[in-house]
Amino acid sequence: MNVHSPLQSREAAVRMASRDWKMLIDGEWLDGSTQDWLDVRDPATGEVIARAPAGGAADIHAAVAAAKAAFDDRRWLNLGAEERSRRLWRVADLIERDAAKIQAVEQLNNGAPASLAAFFTTYAAKFFRHYAGWCDKINGETIEISEPGAPFHTYTRKEPLGVAGLIVPWNGPFASAAMKVATALTAGCTCVLKPSEETPLSALMLGELLIEAGIPAGVVNIVPGHGHIAGAALANHPDVSKISFTGSTEVGKLIANAATGNLKKVSLELGGKSPSIIFDDADLSKAIPGAALGTFYNTGQVCIAGTRVLVQRSVYDQVVEGMAAVGRSLHLGGGFDPEAQIGPLISAKQLERVSGMIDVARDEGAQVLGGGLPFERGYFVEPTVITNARPDSVVVRDEIFGPVITAIPFDDPEEALSIGNDTEYGLAAAVWTRDIGRSQLIANSIAAGTVWVNCQLVLSPGAPFGGYKQSGWGRENGIEGLHGFMQTKTVMTAL
Ligand code: NAD
Repeated sequence: MNVHSPLQSREAAVRMASRDWKMLIDGEWLDGSTQDWLDVRDPATGEVIARAPAGGAADIHAAVAAAKAAFDDRRWLNLGAEERSRRLWRVADLIERDAAKIQAVEQLNNGAPASLAAFFTTYAAKFFRHYAGWCDKINGETIEISEPGAPFHTYTRKEPLGVAGLIVPWNGPFASAAMKVATALTAGCTCVLKPSEETPLSALMLGELLIEAGIPAGVVNIVPGHGHIAGAALANHPDVSKISFTGSTEVGKLIANAATGNLKKVSLELGGKSPSIIFDDADLSKAIPGAALGTFYNTGQVCIAGTRVLVQRSVYDQVVEGMAAVGRSLHLGGGFDPEAQIGPLISAKQLERVSGMIDVARDEGAQVLGGGLPFERGYFVEPTVITNARPDSVVVRDEIFGPVITAIPFDDPEEALSIGNDTEYGLAAAVWTRDIGRSQLIANSIAAGTVWVNCQLVLSPGAPFGGYKQSGWGRENGIEGLHGFMQTKTVMTAL
C-alpha cells in the first residue's frame, strides 16, 4: 500500500471527494427521491467537504425491490461458487489498487491518521479474500435417522436468507461496510447497505469497485441516509430477511423491535465497556502501552476499546502514570497531518458528549489526567485517564466512545473478575499477566465475546467476533458469521 501517493495531500483528497455523490440502486447511480442532502465533513476542521443524498423510505423501497429481484432470479447464486469466489477476490484486488484513494477519503471524512486508514483499507481487502475462499466450502451434513424398518436419506442444506439489510456506523466506515457486504455475498444473499450519515463516501466507493468486479446489478445497493429515516425503513421492511447491524446498543434495541414485523433475523454488534485487567506480575513495558493504546487508538472510537483498566493495587500508580504519559506522547492531528497518531472525534456532537462525560467525572471528584480540548477548530480531545471515579459514575458504567480510560484498582483475581463483569456490556476483555493458569481462569470466567491475553485489539477475519450480554446478538467473521446470513433446510427422503 502506498501511503505516500499524491493523494496524501488534503487538497488532492478534497478535489476528489468534493462533489454531490449519488446512491446505488439496481446498478444505477441516482440522486434519490428526497432532495435532502447529508453534509459530509472533515472532523479535523468541521468543514463540509462533500454532499451525499439522504435517502428516504422510497429509496429504501426501491433498493429492497432491486435486491429482491436479484435474489429471486438467482443472478448472483447461479454464477456458481467458483465464479462468485473469483469476483469477490477481484474486489479485494480492486481495493488494493485504489487503496490510496480509499485511504485518503477515510483520512478526510473520518479524520483517521494515514496509518490507521491504511490498516482499515488493508483489512477490508483481507476480509474479501477470506470470504472468497468460503464460497465453495458451504456444506450441509448427512444425518442418520434411527427408524427401525424405515430407511431414510436425510441431509441438510445451507441456504441464503434472502435480502439482507446492512447498517454500519462511522468508526472504520470502509472496513465495516466491506466486512458486511463480503459476508452477505458469500452466503448468497443480496443486500442494501446503509452507511452512517457521518461517513457515507467510502461505502459508495466500495459500490464502484463492486460493479467493476462484476457483482451483478441489484445484488448490492447502497443508500446513504439518516438512521431514523433510511435505517428505520430498512429495519422495518417486510421484504428484508435479515438485518446485520453495527452501532450503539440503544439503536440495536430499536432494530430488534422493528424486526418483529416480519420476524426477520437480526445480528447486532453493539457497544462495550471492556475491562483490561493488569496484574502486578505482568510485563508492564508491554501492558502499559498496550492498555493505553487499547483505548486511545482511533481516538477511542472503537467498540472493543478496553476503557476500564483494572490494575492490581501494588502497581496501580505506576500504570496510571504510564498510561497518562502514553496519552501525552501521542500527536493529535487531522488525517493529513503526517505526524498524527490519533485524530479528531467524528463530530461536534461526539465532542460535546465525550467532554461532557469527562466534566461530570471531574465534578464528581474524580481525578482527570489529560482531557483538554487542544485546538479551536475540529473535534479534538486529549487522551484522558480518570482515577477515583465513583463506581456508579457514567465514566465507569457507560460507553464514552472517546480516548478516555477509567482506571480502577483491585486486590486479587476474584475482585478483578467481579469488577470486570460488573457491566451490562460484554464485548471484549484483556488480561495482562505472566501467569498462564491465571490468564486462562480469567478468560474462562469473564463474560465477553473476545478475550485477549497479553495483547489487545487483535482481530482476524476468521476469528468469531461478537458480544455477550447487551453487546450484541450473533457472531461475525469466519463460518459463524457466514451462517448468520444463512438458514438450514433439512431434506428427508424415504428410501
Ligand atoms: P448509531 O447506533 O448511532 O448508528 C449506527 C448506524 O445505525 C448508523 O448507520 C445510523 O444511521 C443507523 N441508525 C440510527 N438510528 C437508526 C434507527 N432508528 N433505525 C435504523 N438504523 C438507525 O452508532 P454510531 O454512533 O454510528 O456508532 C457508534 C456505536 O457503534 C458505538 O456504540 C460502538 O460501540 C458501536 N460499534 C460496535 C461495533 C461492534 O462490532 N460491536 C463496531 C463499531 C461500532
